[in-house]
Amino acid sequence: MYIGRFAPSPTGLLHAGSLVAALASWLDAGAHGGRWLVRIEDVDGPRCVPGADRLILDQLARCGLVPDETPVWQSRRGALYQAALDRLVAAGAAYPCACTRADIERALAEQGRPLLRHAERVYPGTCRPEHGGLRGRPERAWRLRVPDDDAGWIDWQDRRLGPQRQHLGREVGDFILKRADGLWAYQLAVVVDDAAQGITHVVRGEDLADNTPRQIWLQRRLGLPTPAYLHTPLVRGANGEKLSKQNGAQPLDLADPARAVAGAARALGLSPPPGPLAALLDELGRQWAAACPG
Ligand code: GLU
Repeated sequence: MYIGRFAPSPTGLLHAGSLVAALASWLDAGAHGGRWLVRIEDVDGPRCVPGADRLILDQLARCGLVPDETPVWQSRRGALYQAALDRLVAAGAAYPCACTRADIERALAEQGRPLLRHAERVYPGTCRPEHGGLRGRPERAWRLRVPDDDAGWIDWQDRRLGPQRQHLGREVGDFILKRADGLWAYQLAVVVDDAAQGITHVVRGEDLADNTPRQIWLQRRLGLPTPAYLHTPLVRGANGEKLSKQNGAQPLDLADPARAVAGAARALGLSPPPGPLAALLDELGRQWAAACPG
């Protein structure tokens, strides 16, 4: 049984870019005769905008995208994330970390790996138990251990992008599960929830593709199944940058929902016919079913 989902973070309203992922995940569930869920990813409370969750659900409904089950809110699911962290700690897969950002930069510089601009800060493993652990410093965050050797390669298949690979040890490093401010990290919450909700297919924006190897590694550590992944094309603004709330993308204009849906459909390579929303969604469903990979 196919179960898909759309998982918006309520840090603002949906914009033209987020509607692409929402529409693709909805169409894909329809094409597979599956169920489509919505999960509000509000673990990062300080970045969430009060009321944005309800407005997003409203925006989706105006576009004809109505979930098959009552949405869930990650902020109410901390006990599940804690249970997963406890299992990882018991298995020796996760460890507490005392490093500040400055500590990490200093350690990388000492290892002759100065931080390049915009480069990932690969955690240098300072607080790994075999390196002495916290050494009396207060615990700040919890990290998941990833292999430095060949076991660190994660090979995976994206339904649109094809074969992908990333070396977790070299490109990412031991990554955060619970942040220094006590908040759950996206990687842990998303993996726990995808499994708890029985998600078989993840359809989301391409900006998240390079998170997938971390999530697959975490699934394996927790003994959870890996869903199929499809990452949708990003929508770029006039300046060529990907549309995002951070760079000021405007909320969807829903004066004419069919127009907004047609725009998202074009970004997916579909050919939306003119006409009312219900007929448009039906036709897009046919086009997606005929064209969708896998
Ligand atoms: N909440 C994430 C976001 O809005 C999406 C997570 C996901 O689809 O895995 O960027």
